[in-house]
Amino acid sequence: MDARGLGFRALIGVSALGVVLAVVGTFGTLSKPTGLPRASILFITVDTLRRDYVGVYGAPWPITPAIDRVAGRGFVFEQVLATASWTPPTMASLLYGGTPLEHGVYDWDTPPAGGTVSWPRWLGRQYGYQTVFFTNHPGLAAPALGIAAQFDTVVFLGDPWMPAERLTDAVLQWLRRRTSSRPLLLWVHYLDPHEPYDAPSPWPEYWRANTAEPWLLPMNLSVCPVELYFGENCVPPYLWPHLDRNEYQPDRLATRYRADIAYTDYHVGRLVKGVVGRWDRPRQRWIVSITADHGQVIVRERPDGTRIFFSHGTYLFDELLWVPWVLADTHRPMSTQRIDILVSQTDIPPTVLAWAGLDPPPAWRGFALWREDRWQSHRAWATAWELRVPAAAVHTGKQKLWVAPGQVLYLALDDRPLRDEAPDPAFETIVHRLRQAMARMHDGGRPVPLPSDLKAQLQQLGYVGP
Ligand SMILES: [Zn+2]
Repeated sequence: MDARGLGFRALIGVSALGVVLAVVGTFGTLSKPTGLPRASILFITVDTLRRDYVGVYGAPWPITPAIDRVAGRGFVFEQVLATASWTPPTMASLLYGGTPLEHGVYDWDTPPAGGTVSWPRWLGRQYGYQTVFFTNHPGLAAPALGIAAQFDTVVFLGDPWMPAERLTDAVLQWLRRRTSSRPLLLWVHYLDPHEPYDAPSPWPEYWRANTAEPWLLPMNLSVCPVELYFGENCVPPYLWPHLDRNEYQPDRLATRYRADIAYTDYHVGRLVKGVVGRWDRPRQRWIVSITADHGQVIVRERPDGTRIFFSHGTYLFDELLWVPWVLADTHRPMSTQRIDILVSQTDIPPTVLAWAGLDPPPAWRGFALWREDRWQSHRAWATAWELRVPAAAVHTGKQKLWVAPGQVLYLALDDRPLRDEAPDPAFETIVHRLRQAMARMHDGGRPVPLPSDLKAQLQQLGYVGP
């Protein structure tokens, strides 16, 4: 196997703050482990965590030392795309595999399509794992999403919402009382970086910006017509009662967002330490995976000239779709290895399982990343709504196709329009079919599974999994 031929590059981190030395990595480090004890898996998802706000991805603020420490012991996946820009579809992709067009979860009340098998259930049935899910995100208790039925134990803390500190305490307390010796899948989802930005003191004070000229918003704010929409002069209804008008300025909000991330990262660090113990003398073999469901828009100009602030769920901008993902194993020590191949969120569980020496559910839609036959043609695919209109984005890593009713955009990285470059010819062949699929998806507001012929075409092009 030839690492270069697979577009595989490894960088070895030589300092915690990311001074890196490029070397050509060996494919061998991604081979399936042999002779290691059965691993337990700590699977952490952090809500609304932008990739570029994480230190190991180059964030200029030291707000994620705990995540960076895990990254320092394993893999940093540099190009990971969320399958949508908000929680229900992306959590469904992480739980059941596939894109929203495949699993059929678009909203809190759209259940997964028939035949979907979650990997926690599979782990319990096939390999005897005990499976546990903890979160402080009250929305994840939505029955349609089905989380409660996919784990042996599910703990929804919240409503009223409880902060990351309490969530972490609850997980660690549960772990101390646990008597089972079965291997464990422990999935913890932190909501905290999600707005409203309300990290407890001293985090906001500590991270308060020193920016001289905050960008003042008009003070004639009103409630937006759409639940999740932040507009030029409006904020979503659920934020309205909590709004401090003096704080509703992008620079201040960005600072509070960073404070929320720093606060969450601190408790992620407590969790990892409490679960794993000392990395050089772990209590047992643990694989630790940390990723996000989606990113966050800070400020964006829309095509019609209006601006949006602090939003997700209704757009497909790159900062919403790129998510961080780090993976480390107590029994395979290494320094940071950066992997720059394009990865879909749906590839994360099968890769974690393969790293643990386990197979994913047979019908899982996503790849273990060292299946080289898949890498070469792999493209990531993301779908979401813009203001509840079906819209889809397809990434090649260098270019992005964005399709919505009446609009097709060919974009370069960071959502810049392509100028001198020609669009990827593969895009042309799928635009028409995408529009058809989305038009049907819109019918009656119910999800429609990906039509089999479109799916076959997309598979041939490498855009979707088996
Ligand atoms: Zn979310």
